[in-house]
Amino acid sequence: MSNTAPSSAQHQTISLLGIPFDGNSSFLRGPAQAPKLIRHALFSDSTNLWTEDGLDLGQPNSFHDAGDLDVPKNPIPAFADIEAGVWRTLGNGHPLICLGGDHSITYPILKGFRPRWPDLTILHFDAHPDLYHELDGNHLSHACPFARIMEERLARRLVQVGIRTINAHQAEQAKKFGAEVITMRELAAPNAHCLADLNLQGPLYISFDVDVLDPAFAPGVSHYEPGGMSVREVISMIQGLRVPVIGADIVEYNPTRDHHSQTAMVCAKVLKEISAAMMRRGMPPARWP
Ligand code: MN
Ligand code: MN
Repeated sequence: MSNTAPSSAQHQTISLLGIPFDGNSSFLRGPAQAPKLIRHALFSDSTNLWTEDGLDLGQPNSFHDAGDLDVPKNPIPAFADIEAGVWRTLGNGHPLICLGGDHSITYPILKGFRPRWPDLTILHFDAHPDLYHELDGNHLSHACPFARIMEERLARRLVQVGIRTINAHQAEQAKKFGAEVITMRELAAPNAHCLADLNLQGPLYISFDVDVLDPAFAPGVSHYEPGGMSVREVISMIQGLRVPVIGADIVEYNPTRDHHSQTAMVCAKVLKEISAAMMRRGMPPARWP
């Protein structure tokens, strides 16, 4: 079956890096157990490795798996290790998908991206803006990464999608940092924003917090926030991207809350479609079949 894929995309290797760290979670632990389970779901015999536009990710060399980082529990040295591990893995020259972990890791991940990719746009899927200046006295909390990222100008532009918990403080922060917030309410409106309106430019980094999905689709998260996106809406949005995607993270999957690996399979599906978007390099997806 190799080399028969009809996709306009060029097959290329994608790096995977597990970051089993949940030390900055504010409510529950669990996401540190996620990377192994997402990989397990990805390679599960219950499905195949074809993307919806006809790329066979089961071909040899589709993935370079850099394994899981051995991160200490203390956030300060953990963040230094994450930054270094990401930088090292990017040295292979492949697009990189990091498997979290709680959402705090996006900050050190992007520090690892900065030397190679100083001019990123971030497409951030989440129920929460994660823009708190601090939460419970913790500036590195999983509720704060995008405040740190924008303060340090690790991205040129931050576009947040699916948000449905914004409070006065975070609305102020969004304004201060120039974050473009597309709330769930706006997404669900009859003349909803579509990606084309955003005029996104590459290189693009996707930060995917699983709780952007309605808990009906993805129960394996720490913070249930009803009224979220469907898996299909997320996939359509990823397939609608027309800019090069060079990096991504999938965070906040909490296996201790999952049912029968349902959410692990959702993570694997999103991982496959993000991989396809990376291989398309900004081209539209092929029709397959
Ligand atoms: Mn988040
Ligand atoms: Mn969230």
